[in-house]
Amino acid sequence: MWWRLSLPVEAELEESLLWKLNDLGLHRVAIQHAPESPDQRTLLAWLPAHEWPEDQRIELFSSLAPLALTFGQTLAQPVWDELADEDWSRSWKQHWQPDPVGQMLLILPAWLGVPEEHAQRLVLKMDPGSAFGTGSHPTTRLCLEALEQQPPATMRVADLGCGSGVLGLAAIALGARKVLAVDTDSLAVSATADNAALNGLSADALRVRQGSVEVLQNLLAQQPADLLLCNILAPVIEALAPHFEAVLRPGGRGLLSGLLVEQAPRLTAVLEGLGWKVRPLAEQARWGLLEIQR
Ligand code: SAH
Repeated sequence: MWWRLSLPVEAELEESLLWKLNDLGLHRVAIQHAPESPDQRTLLAWLPAHEWPEDQRIELFSSLAPLALTFGQTLAQPVWDELADEDWSRSWKQHWQPDPVGQMLLILPAWLGVPEEHAQRLVLKMDPGSAFGTGSHPTTRLCLEALEQQPPATMRVADLGCGSGVLGLAAIALGARKVLAVDTDSLAVSATADNAALNGLSADALRVRQGSVEVLQNLLAQQPADLLLCNILAPVIEALAPHFEAVLRPGGRGLLSGLLVEQAPRLTAVLEGLGWKVRPLAEQARWGLLEIQR
């Protein structure tokens, strides 16, 4: 059995809630849009019933409520529906639609065919079940659009905090020679490996291991990458920053996201202190993307 949480949310709160749920290990989430009223959205999350007795669900809701306060909002009452096993994946999957990103990319739920109108796009097949990064988060989109604007042709690319592997898959679709990916979360590692296989990539083209920047350094085998992708929260990027020099070659380019626009000045100062040239590249819905180079 599964619980499905339905929670009406204001657009500006949506991303914080998704991050929080992801942080709590809840990856089966979706945002439901009502086409007739675009401002009204419902956050949906599916939780295995045996792991989520009532007290746990109440606690979960209490941990979400303070996020709304930061935006001067109060959360609506959550609705919990119980679903049978065979219904949950159908219920969940119907919310994932082919998702065009930028001019050239299409994120495609693995069980769907390519829609006619997107036939020209580069397809990234994803099974969005298991890990963060179905491409819907603004930070993921920022990275994907930046990749597309300056395609990593023939590059060796490092993907630090790969989640579902979506950035690495896009890099290869856009011409990268090789992707070395790491994530501290074992679910993300298996999701990335599964998604790489879904897209017909060999374990050599996209190599993924569990761990952080030290493991990445090993994967790179003393040969720093041409491009570093890192979409994690600002404090984590800040903590990892002293190691970037070891994983990104001189003249190479780093794309950093996962930071809120208001966190950019501090992170920029830290990076500049470490000798990086920092350029704000783009922002979307309060999230920012920084480019670093030295
Ligand atoms: N790259 C994906 C996922 C981003 S979510 C995308 O752009 O959509 C951030 C990911 O970083 C999560 O999967 C999380 O498990 C991972 N992560 C968090 N801290 C980390 C660390 N210190 N080292 C490596 N990965 C980390």
